[in-house]
Amino acid sequence: MSAAERQRTCAVCGGPFESGERTDLEAVMDGGVLYVAVHPCHSTYPPRRETEAARRLTA
Ligand SMILES: [Zn+2]
Repeated sequence: MSAAERQRTCAVCGGPFESGERTDLEAVMDGGVLYVAVHPCHSTYPPRRETEAARRLTA
């Protein structure tokens, strides 16, 4: 299962992915490396948002 299928929402804006929509993967450092799915035009950077994305995934 891909990160996008697991999350179903963008790690940056929280918006849902459309079925079949192209997504980008970004690496998030959080004690290890997590890969999160984001909309192609979005980014979990800068680091503050990266941390928020990691926290949301592990909460
Ligand atoms: Zn997004």
